[in-house]
Amino acid sequence: MKYFIDVILPIPLQKLFTYSITEAEFHFLKPGFRVAVPFGKRKVYTALVVNVHQNPPEVYEAKSIQQILDEKAVVTSQQLALWKWISSYYMCSLGDIFRAAMPSAFLLESETVVYLNGEKEVDENELDDHEFLVIEALGHQSSLKIEDLWAILDTKKVLPVINRLIEKELVTVQEEIYEQYKPKEEVYVLLHEQFSSEEKMHTLLDDLSRAPKQREVVMRLFSLSASTKKPVKKSELQKESQVSAAVIKSLIDKDILKTYKKQIDRVSFEGETNEVKELNEYQQTAFKEIEESFKSKEVTLLHGVTSSGKTEIYVQLIENEIAKGKQVLYLVPEIALTTQLIHRLRHYFGEAVSIYHSKYSVNERVEVWNNTLNNSPKTKLVVGARSSIFLPFNNLGLVIVDEEHETSYKQFDPAPRYHARDTAIVLANIFKAKVLMGTATPAVESYFNAKAGKYGLVNLDRRFGNVLMPEIELIDLKDKHKKKRMTGHFSDRLLEAIAEALDNNEQVILFKNRRGFSPIVECGTCGHSPQCSNCDVSLTYHQYKNELRCHYCGYRMAMQTNCQACGVANLDSKGFGTQQVEAELKELFPKVKVGRMDLDTTRGKHGYEKIINAFESEEIQILVGTQMLTKGLDFRNVGLVGIMSADAMLNFPDFRAHERSFHLMVQVAGRAGRTQKRGKVLIQSFNPYHQILQQVSVNDYDGMFTDQVNERRQYEYPPFFRLIKVTLKHKDYNKVNRGADWLAQYLKNGFGKYVLGPEFPPVSRIRNQYHKNILIKIPKEQSLGNTKTYIKKIRNSFEAVPDFRSIRLIIDVDNY
Ligand code: ADP
Ligand code: ZN
Repeated sequence: MKYFIDVILPIPLQKLFTYSITEAEFHFLKPGFRVAVPFGKRKVYTALVVNVHQNPPEVYEAKSIQQILDEKAVVTSQQLALWKWISSYYMCSLGDIFRAAMPSAFLLESETVVYLNGEKEVDENELDDHEFLVIEALGHQSSLKIEDLWAILDTKKVLPVINRLIEKELVTVQEEIYEQYKPKEEVYVLLHEQFSSEEKMHTLLDDLSRAPKQREVVMRLFSLSASTKKPVKKSELQKESQVSAAVIKSLIDKDILKTYKKQIDRVSFEGETNEVKELNEYQQTAFKEIEESFKSKEVTLLHGVTSSGKTEIYVQLIENEIAKGKQVLYLVPEIALTTQLIHRLRHYFGEAVSIYHSKYSVNERVEVWNNTLNNSPKTKLVVGARSSIFLPFNNLGLVIVDEEHETSYKQFDPAPRYHARDTAIVLANIFKAKVLMGTATPAVESYFNAKAGKYGLVNLDRRFGNVLMPEIELIDLKDKHKKKRMTGHFSDRLLEAIAEALDNNEQVILFKNRRGFSPIVECGTCGHSPQCSNCDVSLTYHQYKNELRCHYCGYRMAMQTNCQACGVANLDSKGFGTQQVEAELKELFPKVKVGRMDLDTTRGKHGYEKIINAFESEEIQILVGTQMLTKGLDFRNVGLVGIMSADAMLNFPDFRAHERSFHLMVQVAGRAGRTQKRGKVLIQSFNPYHQILQQVSVNDYDGMFTDQVNERRQYEYPPFFRLIKVTLKHKDYNKVNRGADWLAQYLKNGFGKYVLGPEFPPVSRIRNQYHKNILIKIPKEQSLGNTKTYIKKIRNSFEAVPDFRSIRLIIDVDNY
């Protein structure tokens, strides 16, 4: 008798691959086990078993596997079902999904590079012989390929050894390792209440006259809190009074000073958990409506204005679900920006919260994977970015999709190009679990589905504590320029409002849209602007390093003094970004601490947390930032939000530009006035009568929705049509053109007028590759399955044309 398995290899193959196994293996192996298999001449891959059977492959001789890597399945049948759906819906291979879904430590292959994890002590007694040899080899050479380790161990069975070492956290595999966020605990000091009267204070100072250093500290604390009117950090006090930590400690011991940890640790999670907050009347109603909706709908949309307390409602739902013994997945658009949220959740659920993110270290990801698989108490609630839909849940009860309108839920590159919100619905379905999507600004598609009765809809239109929605004022930049009321990029009105907020001891957020508006350099004489040598774009100017950089490929050069084209020294940086706003602010308000949050300042390990913490603890008074500012941050003391210019985003050439501008502005505006006092929002624009700005100014979501839906219907866009974008890439311009014309012709034969293009995108050359796009629109009544089958057929014929074989073809379903 012969025995076989079909496996998924972690490479983009159209088909499963078959290997032969022994009878014993046949009885042991099940779908979801990993095996090490040879592939090609000398490669070894980790593959995943999907079928165990007795039918030999027809066209090739099945090779034997190298070894079995698991004692039990690490991928569940539900996951395999989800992968199959993704593969068929998003038109990608199972191999692409396998690679994207698993932590890379589960995918060891001959080429994988292994490193010693320097942070962990090695206890040699805990190692078996093979493990010891690997560790020893890595002591001599900082990194080794698994191939090399075969020779060292004199056995090919090295993958399980590495797997064990990864689990023991002694080694790690090739990739960037990000440190996990550790909450920053800032300690503040103040004078003990017993010295609050002036008289007591004098007595104290007299008493301290023989301890001049301690006296200095008390005086300094007094003057610091008087001048800044802010809580004083212990570290700052120590620095300012130039004493050792011991001096401050003795004052604390004598009960003269008290310390406390500030609000940042709403945070404080030390194993203890807290009662969930009691919902107010409106939240209570919303909560009941959600529960009611869950009875009949798979998906419910919670449309709640910013700061209405949606998170507290989620918390309540999570608690109920956990009490039923179920797992909850809480999807967030970007994990780096959710430290506030994670602290809030840990506050309630403590140890039961796990965080999963593709940028976490290998070991952490393996741990969360295994915990989820084993239904461990640590993964009752998993908070994660889009890739967490791939975790091996086995008892999922609820998926929360927070800020469901966010575009970062869509993966653009590489395949699988899936939308995590939409995929989460399929995932939930597999478990008969419920989905709650929440946002202040629903995506047009989601709201459309809710209105059509496909999703349940729950509204919450009151802010928590009955704080009024911020007051929004539009500022006409054309008029301000004409009347010479501008200082740099600031109108007199905005400056006035900033000054007023600062006077009231309130913080300010200034938003500068990133997209389509980077500072470029242009010659004032001939008009030339420096270009990237690999891509078809102008280089952008980076003031800090005084250099020019390409945002697509990272190419950089020093800022030039003379124009490279005409040689005249007349280069001027045009446009403006967050850096310019920051620089102008520093001149206008020299005494005020200004912070900046954009791609440049948040790159480091704890980039985001540092800035968010500094703003939260009010070390920074004005925060200038891009898109990142919009993502659900909850600051207590922001009195004013200024949008520097609304125009670039409104004019962006995309059918979603208006919807997105609305989302962005309403979300940024929502950062203002979240506690007692009503906040203020100023929006500068050359076109303040633009319909979208008018709708933003009165928070008219329904008006925006109706307009957008009408336009989409008329111009044949989602939700009325589905979109599939096909992109061709090649370094030869002519070849891309030939290929695109061929493909478009065949697609038009099938779909007629619903094929648009081929067209070069605005940036048509990236990293020396030309890009050309074809857009296919699919009307609702046309079968999606048949459409995709036809596209696949054409793709196969395309790939069979020898001239086109080297063209990369990318298919992106629901490309928006
Ligand atoms: P959203 O997610 O809708 O923007 P949040 O859940 O962040 O709103 O709530 C805004 C603020 O109000 C938070 O600081 C939150 O702790 C507070 N809050 C909301 N609901 C309650 C409640 N029921 N009791 C106490 N505080 C609440
Ligand atoms: Zn470039």
